[in-house]
Amino acid sequence: MTPKYKRILLKLSGEALMGGDAFGINRQSIESIVAEVAAVARMGVEIGAVIGGGNIFRGVAPGAAGMDRATADYMGMLATIMNALALQDAMRHAGIVSRVQSALNVEQVVEPYIRGKAIRYLEEGKVVIFAAGTGNPFFTTDTAAALRGSEIGAEIVLKATKVDGIYSADPTRDASAQRYRRISFDEAISRNLKVMDATALTLCRDQKLPINVFSIFKQNALLRVIAGEDEGTLVHL
Ligand code: UDP
Repeated sequence: MTPKYKRILLKLSGEALMGGDAFGINRQSIESIVAEVAAVARMGVEIGAVIGGGNIFRGVAPGAAGMDRATADYMGMLATIMNALALQDAMRHAGIVSRVQSALNVEQVVEPYIRGKAIRYLEEGKVVIFAAGTGNPFFTTDTAAALRGSEIGAEIVLKATKVDGIYSADPTRDASAQRYRRISFDEAISRNLKVMDATALTLCRDQKLPINVFSIFKQNALLRVIAGEDEGTLVHL
């Protein structure tokens, strides 16, 4: 298979790592995700990955109720660093060399985010895992994906979530909900579709960076996206 893309930004939600569990990191889930990522890396596709933290802590979660929002958000960003380390470890087991770069300084644990260095790692064939989101409270890791994707010159953001695309309504509640195969940024923003927050969507739109939303739990979905096949939903200009 000839990959459609040379360089991608893969956004993995924290929930992808927890699999069927209620929270935390599920070994089997992380291993199956990494197996697909490894297959993509072996095709020569350069992969930057942004990992979420929702499986450990979310700033707007009920557990954070009563907390100062910024404090809760810093906790959320620290959670993404833990996920990044777990992801790097699983990649090492799969024979993939990766580097973790963090937007918050935790120098004894991971190196700081340095754009030029990240790009060099990508050119060397290493997967770069971007941790700690944007490094700022009040943002999300989806926005971090849009930001890092733009910075590294990725051709596309691949948003791996638990649903297999963007629907006209919540498919778990509305049987008539239709999956969009393609949707424009303007439509996704104006319809307020819960695919990504508006900050992430507008940044991608401004940077002309398309997004493909797909299910991380569907086998080979990532490989199909990489092959340029119709999978999930493509958000285009
Ligand atoms: N977060 C933040 N700034 C960022 C990225 C993340 O404050 O730039 C915090 C925020 O509290 C968020 C949590 O980290 O709820 C986990 O990130 P996110 O919810 O995006 O993770 P995902 O849903 O992808 O697991």
